[in-house]
Amino acid sequence: MDADVVVVGAGLAGLQCARRLQRNGLTVQICESRDGVGGRVRTDRIDGFLCDRGFQLLNPAYPAVRAFIDVASLDLQTFGAGVMVRKGQRLTTLRASLSRPGGESSVLSSGLIKPKEIRGLLRWLGPTLLRPSSASRATRDSTLADSLDAVGVTGALRRDVIDTFLAGVLADSSGASSANYARLLMRSFVRAIPGLPSKGMAALPEQMAASLGAPVRVNTAVRDLRETDNGVEVDTDRGRIRARVAVTAVGAEDLEELTGEKTPPTRGLTTWWFQAPEPPLEDPLLVLDASAPQGGPNGPVWHTAVVSNAAPSYAPAGSALIEATTLLDRPDGLADEREIRQHLERIYGASTRRWQVLINHRLPHALPVSTPPLIDRSVQRISERIFVCGDHRDTGSIQGALVSGDRAGQGIAGILAPASRRSDNEPSAKR
Ligand SMILES: Cc1cc2nc3c(=O)[nH]c(=O)nc-3n(C[C@H](O)[C@H](O)[C@H](O)COP(=O)(O)OP(=O)(O)OC[C@H]3O[C@@H](n4cnc5c(N)ncnc54)[C@H](O)[C@@H]3O)c2cc1C
Repeated sequence: MDADVVVVGAGLAGLQCARRLQRNGLTVQICESRDGVGGRVRTDRIDGFLCDRGFQLLNPAYPAVRAFIDVASLDLQTFGAGVMVRKGQRLTTLRASLSRPGGESSVLSSGLIKPKEIRGLLRWLGPTLLRPSSASRATRDSTLADSLDAVGVTGALRRDVIDTFLAGVLADSSGASSANYARLLMRSFVRAIPGLPSKGMAALPEQMAASLGAPVRVNTAVRDLRETDNGVEVDTDRGRIRARVAVTAVGAEDLEELTGEKTPPTRGLTTWWFQAPEPPLEDPLLVLDASAPQGGPNGPVWHTAVVSNAAPSYAPAGSALIEATTLLDRPDGLADEREIRQHLERIYGASTRRWQVLINHRLPHALPVSTPPLIDRSVQRISERIFVCGDHRDTGSIQGALVSGDRAGQGIAGILAPASRRSDNEPSAKR
């Protein structure tokens, strides 16, 4: 045998699985088809700018992040708590505070906040805030849209803020995602303000990989894997590996080819990254557009932010970095640069003439679809010696990927590791 376990894929799930296995005294080989670790969490460094492969944020409130990641050493640069909303000529700042949501007179006169909707929102989210298990798979679930209708969140706050914000987070503008999952996400936003590591989101998987006992075999795609009488054989484009057990920690789009397991559907988005000589505004907040006559964005951009306002390390001194995200479930998800610029000019009320595109990330498989009922903790052992993990086996998030990888590692250790070497007393990653 070359190792106790072969892990296929060095995204967050594969890395956490490997770490858990090693902590239990098992030997592991990790094969990654790309040229580095991280999977969907990687960062392009372009002319001194840090452009994550798709705008995303690290939420330090995720239990799995608290349990498995040294957040302090990532030097998180946090966003502000709230959003800015462009509606016609007006740009309103909504500060997130459940006790006094947007109490300033400018906010109240904007018409975005109505007491009835705030009360409805608290009814929608309140139980999950107090008890996360109230939004778990055991609880009745419905679509996000139906759940908000049911509590009377049907006015401007819904149309102009909540629907747009959650569509950007879930890559789903239809409102068909699981309400329970959306509640868990909103709970994590209430509990902590997300941010960006000073060295880019890639610092997260790089930290995990650095703590492994053996290097990840990058540029090593797995082509086939099968069970034998006493283990598994894994064929890579650099040769065969024999082990006792294999774990596929690949994304949803690659699962079926390797394992025959049905491919979970996915949702996609694109992120445009612009550099600018100065920021179009100073606030470290996500900016939403609500200028369409029916509410929501009047153009292809579902959210944008001057990322360098929140994360100065993402841009060289004296310049600004701006992200703009479109959704691939919209007809204008693949809008061209001219359309993106025109929309950004309306949102920021500023010219983009001196802005330059650094890169445009197109990510058709950004997140697994999460329709009701929420099914986290899906089955991971698909045969005697082959396991599957990844965000598609839990929830489509950093939390979900870490938990799924850890759960697979624990399951395998329970089978392979002698009881004396098992590390069952690790911190909990439960919500
Ligand atoms: C644009 C974007 C924004 C996001 N925003 C957020 C956010 O704000 N907050 C949040 O919590 N989550 C967010 N997510 C989701 C989060 O990034 C993912 O849920 C998580 O990274 C998934 O990790 P994973 O290990 O399950 O899968 P992946 O990261 O997809 O890892 C799978 C790995 O397997 C490798 N692989 C595939 N096939 C093979 C093969 N045959 N051989 C070897 N290796 C193979 C791949 O190269 C990849 O490295 C976002 C994702 C995207 C793309």
